[in-house]
Amino acid sequence: MNRKKTNRRNFIKNSSLALMCAPILGKSTILPNQDTKEPQEILKIKNYSTFGRTGFKVSDIGSGSPRSEAVLRALLKSGVNYIDTGADYGNGNNERLIGRVLPEFDRKKIFIMSKIYTETNFESKEKVVERIRGALERLGTDYIDCVGIHSAENTRIIKDEAFHAGVEQMKAEGRVKFTGVSCHGNSWYMAPEESLDKVLMAAVDDGRFDVIQMAYNFVNAPIADKILAACEEKNIGTIIIKSNPVVIYNILDKYVKNLEDQEKDPGEGYYAYRDRYKERAGKAKSYFEKYGMTTEEELIDAATLFVLSNPQAHTVCLDIPNLTAINPYLKLSGQILQPTQASLLEKYTEHFGTLNCRIGCNECEKACPHHLPVNTIMRYNYYFQNKKLEKEAMQLYAKIPGKNADVCKECQGYCEEACPYDVSTRSLLSIAHQNLSLDQVSFA
Ligand code: SF4
Ligand code: SF4
Repeated sequence: MNRKKTNRRNFIKNSSLALMCAPILGKSTILPNQDTKEPQEILKIKNYSTFGRTGFKVSDIGSGSPRSEAVLRALLKSGVNYIDTGADYGNGNNERLIGRVLPEFDRKKIFIMSKIYTETNFESKEKVVERIRGALERLGTDYIDCVGIHSAENTRIIKDEAFHAGVEQMKAEGRVKFTGVSCHGNSWYMAPEESLDKVLMAAVDDGRFDVIQMAYNFVNAPIADKILAACEEKNIGTIIIKSNPVVIYNILDKYVKNLEDQEKDPGEGYYAYRDRYKERAGKAKSYFEKYGMTTEEELIDAATLFVLSNPQAHTVCLDIPNLTAINPYLKLSGQILQPTQASLLEKYTEHFGTLNCRIGCNECEKACPHHLPVNTIMRYNYYFQNKKLEKEAMQLYAKIPGKNADVCKECQGYCEEACPYDVSTRSLLSIAHQNLSLDQVSFA
């Protein structure tokens, strides 16, 4: 018996489907729940904008599914008024957490989006109604501002009549106000004709969606910009997730150091990749200095401001892991990206763009002989490395049917040839597999 695989099964055994739409990791390197002390002064939200046709004045910074009551309480005190959640986050426990905090605040001033997920299709209108009633009960509220399809993977689900009929019934009862959808893109092997823009443009065209939640950041902007423009035209509210791709730079740097510290030898290919990475990092450092950016926080600030500066993006859904991380984000509220910061992001893309798989893309997946869901695996690794939600990320990875990224070590890297962004796919997938499976892999 393979001891590593047994450990892996034990490790992931009790996990839930918690991360299908989880937002980004904050800037703090402190892990969730490591601090409990509220800052003496919590900064205030400086900017609110009209949340599309909902008419709600939404804060420019919103709360991702909150990690703790204390963080949510502090955010609501700061003026954050958008809370993201879903039945699959913590098996309903995230909604329960919100429900415990809500009574302390004016419910009318808060916009809650909760989401329900299906792998295939929603069973029936009655089941959808039952699931929404469950969310209402867990949230302890009379109404949910928006109920959305969680992580839509194809255009078919956008038109799922059971979902729409169930939501319409709850709207008629006054228990739901608006209809929404979230999307990270899709896996080519599941629906070869689909993509982030196709799914969300279908939602825009459908006409029944009031709110759209989507991955958008400075490296995937070419994919996401047209969706935002279409949302503006149809007056649809927009929620941004995965706004910060910069952390890949930091985590790879740490990853290199960790392996060196542990005196691990993952193989020749890995070292070649590391050297290439270091060379790029060295070149980029001079650019960072030239543009007056000396810390990773400044780079991440620029990434966040890129999104905050786009008026088509109404609220940026941030995952704030602890109380210490709150003010460094709140200080960005109401600000816009400065020219020097914009230049920095351009240089980052030029030098590190090959380390960022673009969320919502699946271009290379058809070139893979195994049709691995490259983008999805990269996203799960993001949950593992950036969000420190290892168990959940491994559970999601284990659910991917067919082969996993272990096969990449024996492959010539057809995906790299197919990637229009020249992403170092094979290397990144091998790191992802190593993280997500506890297997030790090496490059061929
Ligand atoms: S390295 Fe090969 S097996 Fe892995 S995703 Fe790319 S093409 Fe597929
Ligand atoms: S590796 Fe390149 S082509 Fe493949 S999903 Fe990522 S960005 Fe798209």
